[in-house]
Amino acid sequence: MSDIKFGEEYGFHTRAVHTGNDIDKESGAIRRPIIMANSYALPYDPTDINWSEAGKAVYTRNGGANQSYLQEKLAALEGAEDAVVLATGVAALSAVFFTLLESGDHVICSNVSYIAVYRLLTEHLPNKYGIEASLVDTSDLEAIKKAVRPNTKLIHIETPGNPTLNISDIKEIASIAHEHGALLSVDNTFASPYNQRPTSLGADLVVESLTKYINGHGDAMGGAVLGSKVLIDKIKAEAMVNIGGAISPFNAWLIMRGAVTLPLRMRQHNENALQVAKYLESLPCVSFVAYPGLESNPQYEVAKKQMINGFSGVMSFGLKTDFDTHNAFVSRLKVITSAVSLGHDESLIVFLGPEDERQYLYPKSFHNGFFRFSVGLEDAKDIIEDIRQALTRVGLLG
Ligand SMILES: *Cc1c(COP(=O)(O)O)cnc(C)c1O
Repeated sequence: MSDIKFGEEYGFHTRAVHTGNDIDKESGAIRRPIIMANSYALPYDPTDINWSEAGKAVYTRNGGANQSYLQEKLAALEGAEDAVVLATGVAALSAVFFTLLESGDHVICSNVSYIAVYRLLTEHLPNKYGIEASLVDTSDLEAIKKAVRPNTKLIHIETPGNPTLNISDIKEIASIAHEHGALLSVDNTFASPYNQRPTSLGADLVVESLTKYINGHGDAMGGAVLGSKVLIDKIKAEAMVNIGGAISPFNAWLIMRGAVTLPLRMRQHNENALQVAKYLESLPCVSFVAYPGLESNPQYEVAKKQMINGFSGVMSFGLKTDFDTHNAFVSRLKVITSAVSLGHDESLIVFLGPEDERQYLYPKSFHNGFFRFSVGLEDAKDIIEDIRQALTRVGLLG
């Protein structure tokens, strides 16, 4: 296997297993080791080295061995030219914004997006750096076209969006961005590259929180940006080296290990979530289910067009009851854990209360409080039974 590059001529499962791994030349081990060293040996004459350069084996913040193995695997899974791996998903998002945007630039962003993106684009970047942002319902192509300005540099979308599962049409939005000389970045965390590959649809950059599906086991944080070598080199040189959100080698190794089973896990997440969503939709005490895989979902057709293998494991739903009964329901669950995050092996649920400051951006059905539910890898029948018994114990099911 040594020195074979497992590129796109191989299938997704083969790339998930092999790309980025190789025989360790020193020990003969068939898995590459964890290299925790901060520094790498310098050449005889180091005076030519640019200490701000990324990619050379100099210092782990400029690029470490385990980071580069993981970058190779992720780029192959997405089908992107290159990747940069950073400490968290938010470090990856910040790296995109801080590298591409200058004061006076304008960004269009999905009105429902990860909370740190909302904070960066509505507070920190405008107030400190004079960058303007328009929050737009990016499922509405006309609304995006209307929001474009001469100084629009970037369109950033999240699809499916966290937590409303709003779907945006990647291919159409890439066309709009490119017509106006802007770039499109897509937060692909909810779908993962198994279900959706935005660069194949025209996106310039893809962001993944590796903390979620790609690691998949709830025990390491990481983030990645994927795209052309030119853009990724710029992000490495500017944001990784100088802002400094480098990933720890151990976390890169853990995520590499988790990513091997991404396609198998995603298949189970996809199947389980569809069954659970259908069950929830059938219950009279459920006020709504937002899951792009339900045929009743108004965005089903767009989702189906761009989500190639399934609709992933996250959904949101509401109960026709008062505030406290939502909490009581969660307290009765046995299989499903109440915690933030998503894409772990175990099912996770979080009650997002009606006092959310961003509520005005959500559809009306979300306004009485709702659950974001990440359906895990347990048996679907056990997840469904857990919901059933908890709803029964709080009096919502007869
Ligand atoms: C969790 C999440 C992030 C942030 O990732 P971290 O690894 O927690 O920093 C970004 N985008 C989406 C859609 C997420 O769900």
